[in-house]
Amino acid sequence: MKPEHFPKEIQAHLIPEQNGKLIYRCLGCGAEHSIEKLLYTCPGCGAVLLIYDENFDRLKEIPGETWHQIFDYRKMLTIPALKGIYRYHEFIGPVIPTDAIVYLGEGHTPVVEGNGIMQEKAGLRFYFKNDGQNPSASFKDRGMASALSYINYLVKSGMISDVLAICASTGDTSAAAALYAAYLKPHIKSAVLLPHKKVTPQQLGQPLGSGASVFEIPGVFDDCMKVVEHLADNYNVALLNSKNAWRILGQESYSYEVAQDFEYDMADKVVVVPIGNAGNITAVMSGFLKFYETGIISALPKVIGVQSEHANPVYKYYLEPDPAKREFVPMTVSPSVAQAAMIGNPVSMPRVIRLAEQYNRTAGGQRVFFISVTEQEIMDWELTANRNGHIACTHGGESLAGLVRALKLGYVDKDDVAVVDSTAHALKFAGFQQMYFENSFPPEFGVTPKPELVNAPTLMRPADLERVPEPGNPLGEADFKKFVRRVSDEIAATLKLTSLK
Ligand SMILES: *Cc1c(COP(=O)(O)O)cnc(C)c1O
Ligand SMILES: [Zn+2]
Repeated sequence: MKPEHFPKEIQAHLIPEQNGKLIYRCLGCGAEHSIEKLLYTCPGCGAVLLIYDENFDRLKEIPGETWHQIFDYRKMLTIPALKGIYRYHEFIGPVIPTDAIVYLGEGHTPVVEGNGIMQEKAGLRFYFKNDGQNPSASFKDRGMASALSYINYLVKSGMISDVLAICASTGDTSAAAALYAAYLKPHIKSAVLLPHKKVTPQQLGQPLGSGASVFEIPGVFDDCMKVVEHLADNYNVALLNSKNAWRILGQESYSYEVAQDFEYDMADKVVVVPIGNAGNITAVMSGFLKFYETGIISALPKVIGVQSEHANPVYKYYLEPDPAKREFVPMTVSPSVAQAAMIGNPVSMPRVIRLAEQYNRTAGGQRVFFISVTEQEIMDWELTANRNGHIACTHGGESLAGLVRALKLGYVDKDDVAVVDSTAHALKFAGFQQMYFENSFPPEFGVTPKPELVNAPTLMRPADLERVPEPGNPLGEADFKKFVRRVSDEIAATLKLTSLK
């Protein structure tokens, strides 16, 4: 639909203007810095930054109801720049001109309700939001669309040139970074650092396929992150990790979509996300707060952050009920099937502390909870979900396991409705499913397959057949007929099919 076909009162708002006034604000010393330079940490004190809009109050002048209409009508536009996360332009990057926005199909991922069997097993109504249906098959595309649109804007306006975008990754960040950078060739090139043998073959193949320079580093993600930080501090590179506050802005789109998916009614809703480097949960809390402050939603949903007990420093931090006594202790991680969240020293921890406090204070009571689950629970819930029509990755399984535990702990009510983040596509982590099915998990994972969840292919090679088809060596007609009949009969017997004759 063309803008001139929309109602007059909406037309004025349909195409966003660039009238935000964004600044970086340091979470350590409170200093403010201009966004005209790419900054990742405060030049004064070294703490992480968040981006704030000094003109944010202008958004409160538009009534919540009008915002609903703006976002709902924008759905019908065919302008690529506004088809993805920038449907919420005013909240994500209100300085970026639409012609600098990079759209590769990210955002607006489906919400799929659990079927009756699943809801009974879980104990409440829930939906998966399939963020694995983003272009590089994880939610990381949301933040990357934002960071690369901003960099593209700087390139187009002549403020920077010949950018080398760099990141450390547990797999999905590098896949997303390499994809978006490849699209912006030749102005932007990318290099990614991965922990050697700690990403799946699919995740390694993605940045290779996008043409990035790929480096494998001994150790785990936390070690890669240190190298990337050293590079960013000492060389002319653009850091694309979630330390980069532009990533957080883009990932806020997840909350905006959940709000729109549920017609802006967030009462009795629970949003469940896995936590690794803690950028995602930061963005989710920040996004809901912004929609709440502008009257777009009138309740803040509960937010549940889930970690594996093999990498749960955030959960441990919040075990201490007295905020004054809490102390963050980085941990050494053990192998986890939620491999993209295998992080012992999350970069965004100061952001989580700040936003969880603000979220609970704004809601007038505790609305943010942290849960730890076992590797066994993660696998069992992932496989159970996928046997019921979902495409959850291990982190989706982790989120669902966390929701079930939160219900048992009383953080969630059985009448609440939950939105569970499946942060990547099941196929990226198919190797863990295979280990489960073949009972080949290394002992440190602590996963024992449940027989009812195991599946394996059956080779149909009837022993009485002398010859079966082989590539380049076809059977004669009689042999082939016999082959088809015998194999069909065996399949029918195995499946106990009833004959039509
Ligand atoms: C990155 C990632 C996470 C963890 O998100 P953070 O923002 O690092 O907390 C979870 N699941 C998947 C699939 C990821 O790629
Ligand atoms: Zn500072």
